[in-house]
Amino acid sequence: MSEIRRDPTTGDWIVVAPRRLERPWQPESFCPFDPGAPETGHGWDVLILPNRYPVVSADTLPPRPDGFYETARAYGRALVVVETPSHDLDDLSDLPVEQIEKVLRMVRDEAARAASDPGVLYLLYFRNKGREIGVSLTHPHSQIYELPVVPERIARELERAEEYWRSRGRCLHCDVVARESPSGRSLLRGTRWTAFVPYYARWPHEVHVYPLRHVQLLTQLDDEELAELARVLKAVLCALKRAVGRPMPYMMVLHQAPLRGDHRYYHLHFEIYGMYRPDGRLKYAASAETGAGIYTLDTTPEDTAERLRKALASCRRDTS
Ligand SMILES: [Zn+2]
Ligand SMILES: [Zn+2]
Ligand SMILES: [Zn+2]
Repeated sequence: MSEIRRDPTTGDWIVVAPRRLERPWQPESFCPFDPGAPETGHGWDVLILPNRYPVVSADTLPPRPDGFYETARAYGRALVVVETPSHDLDDLSDLPVEQIEKVLRMVRDEAARAASDPGVLYLLYFRNKGREIGVSLTHPHSQIYELPVVPERIARELERAEEYWRSRGRCLHCDVVARESPSGRSLLRGTRWTAFVPYYARWPHEVHVYPLRHVQLLTQLDDEELAELARVLKAVLCALKRAVGRPMPYMMVLHQAPLRGDHRYYHLHFEIYGMYRPDGRLKYAASAETGAGIYTLDTTPEDTAERLRKALASCRRDTS
């Protein structure tokens, strides 16, 4: 019923999952992620659930070959990571650091499990925040797609990183970190992670978070690295929440290597796109962005970093 189609003109993959329209209407007051709901039960503090209306699943049939277009079987898993039993917390940054760390460990465990499934080639971990960008369930959660294909944006990054590695013998991303971390666009630098607004930010409040160690996969991160990552994500997301005076809708995506193959030239990182402009209005991906891939920013990444550093300081004052 579901299938993955490839756009031959761009290489993009499109998951066609018509069953998702059958999602039943539910009253606003019912939350499927609360403790005691039919799928959750009691006695947990972080939960990974199968998405009830998955974009990919283990029981899909191979698509009928088209003869012209490239298709792939929509095999895989779509999962929801319920980050806390507390429905009324607004954001990941409102969770205690230890809880965020638990979330990250669960995702790392799932990534290890997914790596042993020969049908899964890529694990995409992401988080959408804010009704403004279409999030219907406000209970804090993030998502995992385990896919049989490598998403095209990741494939482009892999290609550029490999080319740089071949021609210069170094990691492109390590060089970016070396450039950004001491720059005016830096937000924070710990002993294991660094966060900055990249020189090449596309969204009004874009932050990239990198491990200082050159690693490709979530499963390569050790416990100390996950613990510090939890602190860094909490700080950065708190800053986004305060940067323009109202909670910022954002998207957060883990960019990691495919689960199989030799990708030693790559360097995992998180990309976070805060969607409000400095005046608190939503930035849309309109014609130029969506149709041509050319982004316009009405603020400089340097000014954005300055704004976010002030917000970071205010978060720090409140937690110390
Ligand atoms: Zn809830
Ligand atoms: Zn690197
Ligand atoms: Zn990236």
